[in-house]
Amino acid sequence: MNEPHTEQLKKRRVLMINTGGSIGSRKTDKGYQPVCGFFEKEVRSQSSLCDKAYEFSSDEFPFPPIALPLTSHNYRILYCIKEYDPVLDSSNIDMADWATIANDISQYYKQFDGFVVLHGTDTMCYTASALSYMLECLGKSVVFTGSQVPLVELRNDARDNMLGALLVAGHYVIPEVMIYFNSKLFRGNRCIKNSSVSLDAFSSPNVSPLGVMDVRIKIDWDSVRHCSDTHSFHVHTNMVKDVGILRLFPGITRATIRAFLQPPMQGVVLQSYGSGNIPDSRVDLIEDLKEATDRGVLVVNCTQCTNGHVTQAYAAGRVLKEAGVLQGADMTPEAALTKLSYLLGRIDYNMEKRKSLLLQNIRGELTVLDDTEPNFSIKDSELIRTIATALHISTSKEIHLLRRHMFPPLMCMAASKGDNDTLKDFRKQGGDFSVANYDGRTPLHVACCEGHLDTVQLLLENGASVHVRDRFDHTPLTDAIRFKRFDVIKLLLQTGAHLVESSSDIASRLCKAAAEDDVDALTAWHMAGANFSITDHENRSPIQVATEKNSKQAISFLLKCDRKLQEKSNARSNKGVYDDMLARLTPVSLRKYQFSKKRKNSAAT
Ligand code: ASP
Repeated sequence: MNEPHTEQLKKRRVLMINTGGSIGSRKTDKGYQPVCGFFEKEVRSQSSLCDKAYEFSSDEFPFPPIALPLTSHNYRILYCIKEYDPVLDSSNIDMADWATIANDISQYYKQFDGFVVLHGTDTMCYTASALSYMLECLGKSVVFTGSQVPLVELRNDARDNMLGALLVAGHYVIPEVMIYFNSKLFRGNRCIKNSSVSLDAFSSPNVSPLGVMDVRIKIDWDSVRHCSDTHSFHVHTNMVKDVGILRLFPGITRATIRAFLQPPMQGVVLQSYGSGNIPDSRVDLIEDLKEATDRGVLVVNCTQCTNGHVTQAYAAGRVLKEAGVLQGADMTPEAALTKLSYLLGRIDYNMEKRKSLLLQNIRGELTVLDDTEPNFSIKDSELIRTIATALHISTSKEIHLLRRHMFPPLMCMAASKGDNDTLKDFRKQGGDFSVANYDGRTPLHVACCEGHLDTVQLLLENGASVHVRDRFDHTPLTDAIRFKRFDVIKLLLQTGAHLVESSSDIASRLCKAAAEDDVDALTAWHMAGANFSITDHENRSPIQVATEKNSKQAISFLLKCDRKLQEKSNARSNKGVYDDMLARLTPVSLRKYQFSKKRKNSAAT
């Protein structure tokens, strides 16, 4: 294989969950139908989706992996298809399926760098919106896609959509639930399906796409949202089903409205006219809404218009506020319905909290119009203004570019000094903590190297990603381990960081630390969850190397770890034997110990 130099080559793993839809459908007597096992066979037969010449070990994958041909960015994307049984037309997808997808992403979260979900187009916006709430503190890309024409057809949109989604999930850390369709990358909870015939089937009427794949891939990094706390990724699957969408129409009867608002209904999206208006002459309607909200039903007002938002500009809209109805801003009906279902399912929230979160932007699903936060513009920055003047730069596009290039190194510099005030200033001026400098390094990488715990905390609470890798493929966790920053390692792990190095790479580093009797390095790797029984390229385990080099402290540490592991697995717990052995530790006795352990293990298997 003509692979580039390994230092430039990046390997990424993507899990593709196939729920069904047209993309993998086959023509049957009854029309197009998703059929189990059919899609993967088709994928493997297409050279643009499966590079058969590329050889690699599939040992570390939970499903048979497929190699995508090398990308123009020198990424080798290895992906596995997890297919549901049965594969479904998306009209049959329900809330239980949302939970299955969320749980699968959670189960395989650490083994993959990104996720693609293949889904029928009909209800894709509901599932993507729901998942955007259910996947909490998401740190990796989750890209939904599907197609209007199945992959098996000669002329289809399936191949490009699938390829585009894989490229996004494999190349970029965009910690959002997205929809990729017809060369555009959208925030999932902002989308609507607007055509059943056009290949341009989706749009995001109230916000621009997060990315566009033209001749070049352009990601609008300023619009990408990042989780802003130090909790690690987890899923919330308790979605309440007693929710609904009530679309007003002229002459709607009181009986219809009453029936709709009856228990067990708990949450309603009221689709009103224009900028949020209802017939304010209909006292009956307002009374029924008030009666429902008094009973604790959450009612959120959204517009029937595709584009725009609800306001209280008209008297016909204001009465809703008095009836206890909440303003849904510019949420799509799908985003509003699934948000209700999610918030009602959060049993740890009281009603006040749910109401307050309904009005807030929690996953990028709405635009808060009366934001009281002062709007800082990059033009407020003295530094950028001075440089812009000196360079005779004046257009907003040029200033934007200047900011993108200048802020990352400056923020890295502030992070290296642990200068939190300066970092906060950059943030106010529009600085994005997840943007990297020329070497792909973010302020978080730098703060981790230096061990500035407060700075690491500040960055994590303001959107820095623990999963971004620099050009050397190092994550912030790799750096914290390298510099033995124990408290930083702890915080990163709590926020969802995990090891991404291959086991042979980790083994080499462990063996090096063992050879150098570097217990701090071993401790750092141990804290980060490294497995100490793995072997390096020469098939040596860390304890073997420590023994050969007579690294006494390392041997003692490794034995202690081994003992803890044994105690944990209950395989053997004879403290006396170990303590005794530690006391009499010599390379010779250790070798004997290892030899006898090996024999016991092989006898046991
Ligand atoms: N009916 C199909 C579905 O939603 C349509 C599609 O996939 O485009 O599953």
